Amino acid sequence: MKVAALAGGVGGARLAAGLEDSLQIGGGELSVVVNTADDFDLWGLRICPDLDTVMYTLAGLENPDTGWGLAGETFATLEMLASYGEDPWFLLGDRDLATHLLRAERLWGGAALTEVTADLARRLGLRSQLLPMSDEPVGTVIHTPEGPLEFQEYFVRRGQRDAVLAVEFRGIGEARPTAAVREAVSGAEAVVLCPSNPLVSLGPILALPGMRELLSEASAPKVAVSPIVGGRALKGPADRMLYSLGHEVSATGVARIYGGLVDGMVIDRADRDERPAIEDLGMEVLATDAVMHGPPDRARLAEEVLGFAATLGRAEGGRG
Ligand code: GDP
Ligand code: CA
Repeated sequence: MKVAALAGGVGGARLAAGLEDSLQIGGGELSVVVNTADDFDLWGLRICPDLDTVMYTLAGLENPDTGWGLAGETFATLEMLASYGEDPWFLLGDRDLATHLLRAERLWGGAALTEVTADLARRLGLRSQLLPMSDEPVGTVIHTPEGPLEFQEYFVRRGQRDAVLAVEFRGIGEARPTAAVREAVSGAEAVVLCPSNPLVSLGPILALPGMRELLSEASAPKVAVSPIVGGRALKGPADRMLYSLGHEVSATGVARIYGGLVDGMVIDRADRDERPAIEDLGMEVLATDAVMHGPPDRARLAEEVLGFAATLGRAEGGRG
């Protein structure tokens, strides 16, 4: 079975790892389309937080406590940068730096991000395709009462404390889904929207010109997994962001954002009372344990998601 997953960072990476495990048994193929709108430049390096989170997780190298960064990481480079009087506000570890050196070298040489990412992923032994959503740079600007903030300034430096008035994706009009992304989505037998922040992780992917059309033309059933469980995000500012932008902070609120785009919504059992509201949006609902505590949970949830997608595919075939 060919599966295309749309992912941001930690939530997306965890489900992608589960999908990879559950597909391995049947010889399936996974392509993960990853948000690049929180990429930025620092110390002459191109930082791609979501791509690296997914890459490290699929390589089994991720820090299990944070979900991002590498296990057993050290920060001696940052200490030396601090000795130079730099403010090391963004945690770039010593091992992580190796990824950035290789990426920078290849990007300076003129290679596209898709090509560089595929090369890094291959060298770390990834079994799945790791696909940046686009090769053109896109930047997320968070508009706050304090003024516009670059995404990492909002997220890391200021610890997501600002109210979010609007989210802007700079450069999105000129960006396009890559050829590899188009191929992965149109050739997929199931498309999974991972439990990532719907506004700043999957939002940019869905905002790429042509992406919504690509998804609606794809014949595969499309299933989203809610990152909101019991009215809260499991990590990060998704709940606060949804609230400040006027969305309902619930699985239903997330389903509304994906309305017209997905055939099915996977929600946590804690939110099972929301089933009718989500069904009213024209989606099927699977209520299960949607919280991934560790690798066995990831694979179990992934299997349920794929099983659910398969029933949606059949239902459509029956009608057609
Ligand atoms: P970021 O770039 O690291 O912030 O990553 P994402 O946007 O992919 O992930 C953040 C979202 O993942 C948050 O909204 C979390 O609620 C969600 N998330 C993290 N772990 C889980 C999980 O085990 N289950 C579900 N359903 N959502 C999760
Ligand atoms: Ca991210």
